[in-house]
Amino acid sequence: MLTVTGLTLREIRLPLKEPFHTSTGTVADRRVLLVQLDEIDGAVGWGECVALATPDYWPETIDTAWLMIRDWIGPRVLGRTFEGPEYVSVVLAHGIRGHAMARAAVEMAMWDLAAGIKRMPLATLLGGTRDKVATGVVLGLQESAEALADRARAAVDEGYRRVKLKIKPGVDIQSVRAVFAAVGSNVPLTVDANCAYTLDDASHLAKLDEFGLQYIEQPLAWDDLVRHADLQQQIRTPICLDESITGVDRVEDMIRLGSGRVINLKPGRIGGFLESLAIHALCVEKDVPLWCGGMLETGIGRAHNIALASLSGFTLAGDLSPSARYWAEDIVEPEWTMDTDGYVAVPLDESGMGVSVRMDRVEALTVRHEIFSA
Ligand code: MG
Repeated sequence: MLTVTGLTLREIRLPLKEPFHTSTGTVADRRVLLVQLDEIDGAVGWGECVALATPDYWPETIDTAWLMIRDWIGPRVLGRTFEGPEYVSVVLAHGIRGHAMARAAVEMAMWDLAAGIKRMPLATLLGGTRDKVATGVVLGLQESAEALADRARAAVDEGYRRVKLKIKPGVDIQSVRAVFAAVGSNVPLTVDANCAYTLDDASHLAKLDEFGLQYIEQPLAWDDLVRHADLQQQIRTPICLDESITGVDRVEDMIRLGSGRVINLKPGRIGGFLESLAIHALCVEKDVPLWCGGMLETGIGRAHNIALASLSGFTLAGDLSPSARYWAEDIVEPEWTMDTDGYVAVPLDESGMGVSVRMDRVEALTVRHEIFSA
């Protein structure tokens, strides 16, 4: 049984080691919304809302999520008893359209809470079977193709098991060619366009076919499936959908329409773990390659992603970089690290998410907070 008696919303600001550039914009200081749930017997569960400060990746922002959790989502868990975390998602979704990032922050905190109370690793509670997860690097847009190639080479030397390049019109083929020349076929290479192209670019994007990319991620609009299906007919490189996947229904649509062949699953963007488990099950059944994406999470969101990625259906390397890639200092201990073979260990000796939140650091970074009690 889970009875939540307290909910704390916190905004922290965590400076990235260096600004992260994609086709939609730049993040330098990560504004992060953290959710802390207090259970009646003193246990604590953590959630991290993956919304960004701006609505250019997704309609939600950390400010809309704050409002939704305060006014709509928080009241649905406060003072209420759930038999288990798998019953939370439907309660949060009832009568609320959208706001999946806000819902996920609370839903995932409930799973974290449940794992702690059961004294079980979160990964095990979710059904994970791996003790380590394969990690890929994401390289943002750089000032030159040469700089990008240098970074790709360094990442492969560090052990990363896949290299993903952010691309946009005008910064694509040349970048891939430079990186391909630098790392060759030693490591899978992928690109992520974050919706920067249209169907008119099909013949241009077909030029990527010669590099044997593992996939091209979300080339077309964030809510599109039909044009992606047309594009997939015209290019050999498998399309991986990220932004277009809002839940298991969209994965079914993708399969039926032929809009893509690979799924990037971000639990924090699609309402949380229960929906993620449904997508995982469908991908296993339909033999669709699946991997876990990232949203510049702190060590808390990273813990949740790593737990999920330990399920056997996550067949490709995920965006699960260690803490030190993004942060001078994380907000959890121990920090997440990667071995020289490019794997992050799943903390199976600890209950809950497997890392502790450094409350002193969280307090010091907090710029606003609100506490709600049952
Ligand atoms: Mg993406």
